[in-house]
Amino acid sequence: MPIPTRIAGLEALDEFLPRAGSAYARDRNHDPGVSRRAVSGLSPYLRHRLVTEREVVGAVLERHTLGAAAKFVQEVFWRTYWKGWLEQNPEVWRRYRRDVDRALDAGVPAGYDEAVAGRTGIDAMDAWVRELVDTGYLHNHTRMWFASIWIFTLGLPWQLGADFFHRHLLDGDAASNTLSWRWVAGLQTAGKTYLATASNISRFTDGRFSPAGLATTARALDEEPLPPRTPVEAADVVGSPGGRVGLLLHEEDLEPESLLAERPGLVARLSATAVVADPGSRSPQGASAAVVAFTTGAVDDAATRTPDAGGRPARTLSDALPATAVEWARSEGLDTVVTPYAPVGPVQERLETLRAALSVEGMELVTVRRRWDGEAWPSASRGFFPFRGRIPELVRQL
Ligand SMILES: Cc1cc2nc3c(=O)[nH]c(=O)nc-3n(C[C@H](O)[C@H](O)[C@H](O)COP(=O)(O)OP(=O)(O)OC[C@H]3O[C@@H](n4cnc5c(N)ncnc54)[C@H](O)[C@@H]3O)c2cc1C
Repeated sequence: MPIPTRIAGLEALDEFLPRAGSAYARDRNHDPGVSRRAVSGLSPYLRHRLVTEREVVGAVLERHTLGAAAKFVQEVFWRTYWKGWLEQNPEVWRRYRRDVDRALDAGVPAGYDEAVAGRTGIDAMDAWVRELVDTGYLHNHTRMWFASIWIFTLGLPWQLGADFFHRHLLDGDAASNTLSWRWVAGLQTAGKTYLATASNISRFTDGRFSPAGLATTARALDEEPLPPRTPVEAADVVGSPGGRVGLLLHEEDLEPESLLAERPGLVARLSATAVVADPGSRSPQGASAAVVAFTTGAVDDAATRTPDAGGRPARTLSDALPATAVEWARSEGLDTVVTPYAPVGPVQERLETLRAALSVEGMELVTVRRRWDGEAWPSASRGFFPFRGRIPELVRQL
């Protein structure tokens, strides 16, 4: 299991740097099963922003030209793109949450229990389930095959597959996960599905798997039309931090130093700091022990790096938001709680309840969004390809 600290993330980045250029472009689609040196394994660090996208892209471009590292840089921007897209289409997340609740309330469909127990009889699927549960990770290509077989061969609802991933992936992320599953199902790029084939699986797993009996066609799923998208707000600070200010970190962004560097003046005003996480809010079924351990470790690490202006260490709050955070803010006599902006997903849902609870007490919640997101998200309004065209300019700006 990766170590949930910023230092471990930076070491992993450093170790990967030599391979981020042409070697990544050549080998990244292969899943050899063990020692995956072709890909970075940075996703749990990026997902919690123990290490930021900006640092990763910056370090890669100190070592390689943008031309040589184009594939890797694009993959990092896929994460940014998905987040910006979901931000503008939050109804997709709300529907997904409702669908998972309904499917679980109604009793899971036939075949679901066998699938998540690794007992489908499809050797590749059963091995991937074990790998996901044991390690909290699957290779990108394997995630695509898995989702395709789940939907088109096993005929299971994509939402329950996405929920299974979200509960077990250390990098489980509302945008990347939900929208990738939708992409495989033919919902994200309407009508265009992803069909896993035995020959492709065999080629890119170096012959480890060649499952028989896979679906040979993949008819796109359909859905009620989505409401018009809501453009991303231009403002990157919502509210103004007045009076006594406290900083509350959460599992979407655990690197306060670079965040606060974008807000000169705020550091000197921090009367108190705290961290909080609730990985269980990813799913009505909670999160795996591995996800809980990684997330808890990551916020503990952030706490050690986040003193207030007087040098006092951050308080670690229990996950019972909003009560614990309101109690902390009250005991510190705060007027404003500043927190990193949380994109559409479980943390945003929790922060909305906190905003309301603080407001009742006469305190304000102010969210601070990073420049990286503010510059890039507005361009994630259509498909990835127009967005990709803006990457060189975004890299220059950021
Ligand atoms: C069905 C499905 C579900 C997925 N769920 C998640 C998820 O919950 N969280 C998540 O972070 N990624 C998700 N991905 C994307 C991708 O599989 C992982 O980001 C990647 O495998 C992580 O491994 P790595 O760090 O070695 O990636 P590398 O190949 O080394 O890429 C570097 C970084 O770029 C980003 N990245 C790479 N590929 C993608 C991609 N296709 N979409 C978005 N970001 C990408 C990640 O932050 C990654 O750490 C999913 C993909 C699919 C097909």
